[in-house]
Amino acid sequence: MFIDHIDLKNLENKRDSAGSITLYLYSSPQETYQAYRMKVHSLFDELKKKLKKFENKKNKTITEDIAALEEKTIDSFAEKKGETFCIFIASDFKKIVKVPIKLKDQVLINDSFYLLPLTKAINQFNRYGILVFNRQKACFFTYFIDKLKEEKSVFHDYVLPNIKESSATDSQGSQWGSKNIANKEEETYNRHLKEIANIVFKNFKAKKFDKLILSSHEDKINSIKPYLHSYLSSNLVGEFTADIEMPENKIRKLAEQTVNSIRKKNELDKIEELLAAHAHNKAVLGVNSVLDAIRGKNIKELVINDDFTQAGFACAKNHFIAFSGPEDNLCPICSQELKKVEHLESQIADKSFKQGANVYSIITDKDRFNKYNIGALLRF
Ligand SMILES: [Zn+2]
Repeated sequence: MFIDHIDLKNLENKRDSAGSITLYLYSSPQETYQAYRMKVHSLFDELKKKLKKFENKKNKTITEDIAALEEKTIDSFAEKKGETFCIFIASDFKKIVKVPIKLKDQVLINDSFYLLPLTKAINQFNRYGILVFNRQKACFFTYFIDKLKEEKSVFHDYVLPNIKESSATDSQGSQWGSKNIANKEEETYNRHLKEIANIVFKNFKAKKFDKLILSSHEDKINSIKPYLHSYLSSNLVGEFTADIEMPENKIRKLAEQTVNSIRKKNELDKIEELLAAHAHNKAVLGVNSVLDAIRGKNIKELVINDDFTQAGFACAKNHFIAFSGPEDNLCPICSQELKKVEHLESQIADKSFKQGANVYSIITDKDRFNKYNIGALLRF
């Protein structure tokens, strides 16, 4: 099961100043059991070391839990290929989710969970529905991150009415006969299109995908469009030419190319939108300006380069986050000492997310956004 926004909100609310453990662990499909085992041990060793340093009254029970979890994680080697295990532990709380995407291996203990890698994954990757069809056959796939899954295939072999040869002997009959066949063919084709459009809509209603991509021969792609429900038409984001008889790996490759170019275009559009808004004082660029906007609770959408990291300072109760602490290094709200944090960008994303902002990360064209790395569209 994939994690959604509600799960994320729940995780955010599980803030525990006694220590919140976040562990990400990815296993590539090529990895051997031996290599995986070693990686699990080293990550868990790092966790135990960090746990010792972290003052925590509940350390003892957590340590026991962790030993058991380490064994369990090793045992699950076969089932987690190509996925990242995301483990969240706080006192009296444990949640483990698997996501079909590569997230960087790491372990952190902080006052709150380190959710940014997941937040970005959720916002970034639409689930696509892909319909490949010809005059008689259709296959409907879903595509998420990089996995293509066949949901339904149909073959409509409608029998055409038998037109007697004899009627073709006089010219009038022949004309009528061929016209009739053409009409019947048209009618069965339309029925086929209508039925496959229904299949796609059913999958949409079942929330199996968000965005639609169509594929057929070049001269046929448009023929399905009049049959698509308006929700589907408004979520139609791409097309590619393919033959349904192609081997699945070829269709997969074409689907992947289409999705990647859609993502790339979306990212470029987002950067353009941000820069244009900035020219009209409706957006900010750079860490300091973004921090100011967060204090003003003014962020509508946060745009962040995927590999951007920034150390900074934060209050343990998450009142205050800053690039550098104020001179007394105390939180202006609770007067507690500010702590150094490894991932200020994550705290920024958490805060923005909590204020109702979307978090959008730039993955495909990072160079274009390198100058700023972070920016935000403002509410007013
Ligand atoms: Zn504070």
